[in-house]
Amino acid sequence: MAVRTIEVREKVMARNNELAGEVRQVLDDHGILSFNVVSSPGSGKTLLLEKTLAALGEELGIAVVTGDVQTQNDADRLARHTVRLVQAVVTGGACHLDALQVQDALTAIDLARTKLLFVENVGNLVCPASWDLGERDKIVVFSVTEGEDKPLKYPKMFKVSRYAVLNKIDLLPHLDFDVELAIRNAKSVNPDLEFFLTSARTGEGLDAWFAFLRSQVAAHAAR
Ligand code: MG
Ligand code: ZN
Repeated sequence: MAVRTIEVREKVMARNNELAGEVRQVLDDHGILSFNVVSSPGSGKTLLLEKTLAALGEELGIAVVTGDVQTQNDADRLARHTVRLVQAVVTGGACHLDALQVQDALTAIDLARTKLLFVENVGNLVCPASWDLGERDKIVVFSVTEGEDKPLKYPKMFKVSRYAVLNKIDLLPHLDFDVELAIRNAKSVNPDLEFFLTSARTGEGLDAWFAFLRSQVAAHAAR
């Protein structure tokens, strides 16, 4: 099936960028580090965030805003791992989150107790690349059950992301997926991408991911 994208008028985009600036300011005022987690559908990013919340939710004061097109299933899954509020945004058909939705979601979150904010975007590698949500960095998640050419097919997403997570590596023995090729493809689009290889399911590679988050939060606090 063809991928459909919404044509966005420049005015709408300009307004979004303005609101993203406001979100960025609020996060900055509270010393909160923020990541916009983008991915293809079914890459396992909700499970990655579930494991992250379970391990580091309290330690790093993690808050999550999670977007879904039509359900709040992901938010429900995440909420099992934290006593803190997981703010669901149901986009009602839209294939991405926008800054206004994040701004609204933040009013429900205890920002004083938050050090790290994950915004889990809608699973879609196309238009979320164009929507600034006020985050510091985008993290793109994809998995070894997809093609090694994902970064070449969706170059903009890999270009605007600073970090990449290649997930489901526990499945590698059953697949012909070439990890080196996937990384090479991604770096041909964005040489600065930093990679994490993980299996959210088995926990493989999560130590490095957790260590990264700890050091990022510490560095952010020390600014
Ligand atoms: Mg999800
Ligand atoms: Zn969209």
